[in-house]
Amino acid sequence: MSLLITNIKQLIQVHEYNTTIVKGSDMKNLPIIENAYLYIENDTIIEFGDMKDCEGFDAETTIDASGKLVLPSWCDSHTHIVYAGDRTSEFVDRINGLSYADIANKGGGILNSAKKLQDTSEDVLFEQSLKRLNELIAMGTGAVEIKTGYGLTVEAELKMLRVIKRLKQESLAVIIPTLLAAHAIPEAYKNNKQDYIHYITEELIPKAAELNITNYIDVFCEDGYFDINDTDAILKAGKTYNLQPKIHVNQFNILGGIALGVKHNALSVDHLEELNDDDIKALKGSGTMPVALPGCSYFLSIPYTQGRKIIDSGLPLAIATDYNPGSAPSGNMNFVVGAACVKLKLTPEEAINAATINGAYAIGISNMYGSITRGKKANLIITKPMNHYSEIPYAFAHNPIDQVIINGQLL
Ligand SMILES: [Zn+2]
Repeated sequence: MSLLITNIKQLIQVHEYNTTIVKGSDMKNLPIIENAYLYIENDTIIEFGDMKDCEGFDAETTIDASGKLVLPSWCDSHTHIVYAGDRTSEFVDRINGLSYADIANKGGGILNSAKKLQDTSEDVLFEQSLKRLNELIAMGTGAVEIKTGYGLTVEAELKMLRVIKRLKQESLAVIIPTLLAAHAIPEAYKNNKQDYIHYITEELIPKAAELNITNYIDVFCEDGYFDINDTDAILKAGKTYNLQPKIHVNQFNILGGIALGVKHNALSVDHLEELNDDDIKALKGSGTMPVALPGCSYFLSIPYTQGRKIIDSGLPLAIATDYNPGSAPSGNMNFVVGAACVKLKLTPEEAINAATINGAYAIGISNMYGSITRGKKANLIITKPMNHYSEIPYAFAHNPIDQVIINGQLL
């Protein structure tokens, strides 16, 4: 199977040599070729260049992309798209003045999602999740991390992992499963959290590892959820099963979770709406990617991650949707790219780097995804006609996507 895309107005994120991460001031650079072609065989990018050099290709399919842009598809490194039902009633509660914490205290929030998930069959859960997955692929996402965490029991967490595995088998998109082992404390353990931590480390993690579906472990490190000591114990337990941390930290409070994540060689630390100089210092020189989730800040009306400060400190930054029923019910990476510009003060170049190559890094796939490089997988967006890639974040809430190619296949 071969595919040739011709007359591309801008071919974006072009790297001659394999790039796996972009940091600090380098994030301002977004290499492009104007009036370009791209040639794909099977699932792999074989050749690209200036349109005037486009000769000798005998492709089975040719797409004329006149007036359109081509870029790597979005890599959404943080989602919770496997969930049951929705939480629209809590949305209305919040409009009427209740806080996220108020809602959690009256049995809503994560506990509400857990109850719904436990009561939903595996098949129904799969169907609901597949619909969301297909919607976000249509919006240009070609690789997506999916977390468990709404189970809160071994049985329900394993159900979530099996659903993620099925999504992985049935979808062309790249899916990276993460065991969100510690998301909230169930009602039954409200007064003996240590017993629940023991349940996680001695029962959940070993049984989840046995399924051999995930390489990553996550903890919601936050006041009222899991403190630094809890998080440390859970990450240590994960390490014995070779699960690398990708953790929720600094959403509402700074507990020292970033330094702890770096100590445990976390692939990413996500949220960071609250951030201090010690956190920045901890990230310097590490292999840990800071990940901002502007859709969550938008939906909850909480502070935005200081993306500008993170990049100006010489660090890399990735952006993701956090797609989940409670705090970010949207999987639209185009909106996230726009919000990163408007609210995090990233330039369009920085935001596109954060949503492609650095997003791929944050799920451990940037050696094969996230840039236009010979030998990398052909996961691509063809935009609607536009003059410049800056129009993607500029025209916020518009859909810039014309066609999506996943692993060489036009959807
Ligand atoms: Zn999350």
